[in-house]
Amino acid sequence: MKVTEHIAKSKGTLFSFEILPPLKGTNIQSIYDGIDPLMEFKPKFINVTYHREEYIYKERENGLLEKIAIRKRPGTVGICAAIMNKYRVDAVPHLICGGFSKEETENALIDLHFLGIDNVLALRGDSIKTENVFKPHIEGHAYAVNLIEQISKMNKGKYMSEDYNLDPTDICIGTAGYPEKHFEAMNLSTDLMYLKQKVDAGADYIVTQMFFDNQKYFHFVKECRNMGINVPIIPGLKPIKSLQHITFLPKFFHVDFPEELSKELVKCKDNASVTKVGIEWGIHQSKELKQNNVPCIHYYTMSTSSSVKAIASQVF
Ligand code: FAD
Repeated sequence: MKVTEHIAKSKGTLFSFEILPPLKGTNIQSIYDGIDPLMEFKPKFINVTYHREEYIYKERENGLLEKIAIRKRPGTVGICAAIMNKYRVDAVPHLICGGFSKEETENALIDLHFLGIDNVLALRGDSIKTENVFKPHIEGHAYAVNLIEQISKMNKGKYMSEDYNLDPTDICIGTAGYPEKHFEAMNLSTDLMYLKQKVDAGADYIVTQMFFDNQKYFHFVKECRNMGINVPIIPGLKPIKSLQHITFLPKFFHVDFPEELSKELVKCKDNASVTKVGIEWGIHQSKELKQNNVPCIHYYTMSTSSSVKAIASQVF
C-alpha cells in the first residue's frame, strides 16, 4: 500500500522509521534485530536508506595508484523485499540520482514494480566522500526533480525505450524537505521554490530532514502551504545518542540545537547521559508534534532502535 494511502486511512499520527543497511558481510538478521523491537508500535512503513559508492586508491605493483570504487553497503531492493515478506509491512527504498544512469534507474524501478514495492523516496544524494560537490552521472539526473519526473512518466506508462511494451508503474513518490534549508540552497525561499517543483513534478509527500526545534518544522509547513505545497509533510526526528553526535549532527546535517536542549547537552559527561537527554527531548518533540496532528512521525534509527523504542513507548 502507498504511504499516502496509509496517511489518508489513518485517524491519528502514524509511526514510521528508517534503517541503514548494515555493512556488507553481515547477514539479514542484523536488520531484523533493529526492526524487531519497534514492531510493537505498528509502523505502517519502514524506509531503507541507500549509500552510494566510495573511492579508494590502491597501489599497483608498478607503483602507480589505481582508483577503485567500493560499495560498503548492499542495495535496497532485496532488503525491502525481505522486510515486506517477513513483517507484512510496506518498505520504502531510497532511490538516489548519484551514480546511476537514467537507464539503470528505470531498470531498478521496473524491479521494484515487479516485486510489488509501490513506494520510493526519490533523492539526489550527496557528493561522493572524496569529492566536495555533487557530480551527476553523465547519463543520469542532476536533481531529485529530474528523478521524480522520470518516475512520474513511468507511472503514465512512458519508458525510455519505445520498444518496451510495459504496463505503467504505480509508484508513490516521496521527496526530501529541509525545515532549516538544504545546505547548498541560497536561502529557505529558493529551497522551497525547488521543493514546489518536485511536488509539481509528481512527489506525493515530503519527509523532512531531522530537526530539533519543532518551531522550525511548524514554520516550514506554514511556508510550504503559503506557496501552494499541499501534500503531507512528515517530520523526521533523530534521537541524540552520544557525545560525538553533539558536534557531528549539526555539522553533517546542517541543523541547530535549540538553546533549551544545548543547555542540557553541555552538562553531559558521557554517552549514557546524552542518550537520556536525547530520549527526553525526543519524547517532548514527538508529543508536541502529535498534539498538532502531524500525519506521521518518522524516526531516523541509523539502525539503533533502543532510543526510538524508549520514545515511542511514551508517545504511541
Ligand atoms: P534536491 O531536491 O535535488 O536539492 C539539492 C539542492 O539543489 C538543494 O539545495 C536545492 O535547493 C537545489 N535544487 C533543487 N532543484 C534544483 C534545480 N532544478 N536547479 C537548481 N537547484 C536546485 N542521501 C543518500 O545518499 N541516501 C539516502 O538514503 C538518503 N536519505 C535521505 C532521507 C531524507 C528524509 C532526507 C531529508 C535526506 C536523505 N538523504 C539521503 C540526503 C540527500 O540525498 C541530500 O540531502 C542531498 O544533498 C539532497 O538531496 P535532495 O533530494 O533533497 O536534492
